[in-house]
Amino acid sequence: KSDFAALAPMPDDPILGLVELFKKDPRETKVNLGVGVYLNEAGFLPLMECVEEAERRLLERHLPRGYMPMSGMPQYCASVQKLVFGKDHAAVKAGRISTIQTLGGTGALQLAAAFAHQFLGVNQGVVSDPTWGNHIAILKADGLEVGKYAYLKADRSGIDFEAFKAALNALPAKTLVLLHGCCHNPTGFDFSHDEWREVVKILVERDLLPLIDMAYQGFGAGLEEDAFAIRLLADEGVTFLAATSCSKNFGLYGERVGALHIVCDNEKEAQVVTSIMKRIVRQEYSNPPTHGGQIVAEVLGDPELQASWRKEVEGMRSRIVGMREALYAAGKAEGLDFSFAVKQHGMFSFTGLSAEEMDLLREKYGVYGVRNGRICIAGLNHRNVEYVAKSLAAVFK
Ligand code: PLP
Repeated sequence: KSDFAALAPMPDDPILGLVELFKKDPRETKVNLGVGVYLNEAGFLPLMECVEEAERRLLERHLPRGYMPMSGMPQYCASVQKLVFGKDHAAVKAGRISTIQTLGGTGALQLAAAFAHQFLGVNQGVVSDPTWGNHIAILKADGLEVGKYAYLKADRSGIDFEAFKAALNALPAKTLVLLHGCCHNPTGFDFSHDEWREVVKILVERDLLPLIDMAYQGFGAGLEEDAFAIRLLADEGVTFLAATSCSKNFGLYGERVGALHIVCDNEKEAQVVTSIMKRIVRQEYSNPPTHGGQIVAEVLGDPELQASWRKEVEGMRSRIVGMREALYAAGKAEGLDFSFAVKQHGMFSFTGLSAEEMDLLREKYGVYGVRNGRICIAGLNHRNVEYVAKSLAAVFK
């Protein structure tokens, strides 16, 4: 008898399952606003020009494919650290940030949780209510008990900042607090700079361990602006962790390129932390893949290529902002107030629709969004935005 006969299948991932359903849908008017991937005006995931150029250069060099160091490619780590913290940041110059290359933002989060649990004795983590579903699964898999902190107002019109602060203030010391650095997924609602200042104050006063997840740098208010929270924490001398990703802002989803930054008190501490991270990596996957990290290092390491990359990211960001405005205008034409779309940042918008209403949107109109009410704004374009607004209006009414 098979060892596996008693196993039951896992339910589909709520987001990736939608992709399968979408593929099978024969309707020409169908629109995929489910998965968090940037699509251009033509409805395709683009290969960024700077990435193509970097690949051309790498190919010409005929680089061998040896093992990477456990902590990743040094030039990659140094460039990404500067991108996240700012090249002249005192913490960068002091060498007090331990940055390692990871398997996407997901890999960075997983290593962060493993480090906190195994080496800092952290047993409890909290995530925003709601959050990216994988946050909870990742923290749990690494042995943390996971709770939620209040985030969204009951009417879903913005952040309930008072309730959020009360939740933070009630946490025991040494709780890992996972915060979205920018472009909150799924709600699209981010803290203002003043709110971040208050958040940092509470994190310090309560002796909490911040883990900032920034998967969308450049898609919210801009590449530098989006890093505000991370830079503020570093300015304030807080010791914390940050998980970042090149999946979205380099369009390198499938290459699995991300970074974990652990901001320490001094350089010596950072060296100890790096040695620990190398040990964790060694037993988990030994070392990261070569290709994606080389592309990013090539782009960021060449001032001209970096400038054209910044332009391309800004192009993606402004297209998203433009589609938010277009959705708002198309809603207005239907007599509805879609102002939520222009108040939020990043790829995602929370429509406020229930799971049943999202099912109706999918079944009757072929507009695919996540059942928690999230739609991906980057899936909109000038050909489908009116249809989406009309479909949303039909479900809202
Ligand atoms: N964090 C958030 C909030 C995300 O939405 C995502 C991707 O969807 C990630 C992290 C991880 O991204 P990746 O592992 O693809 O780099």
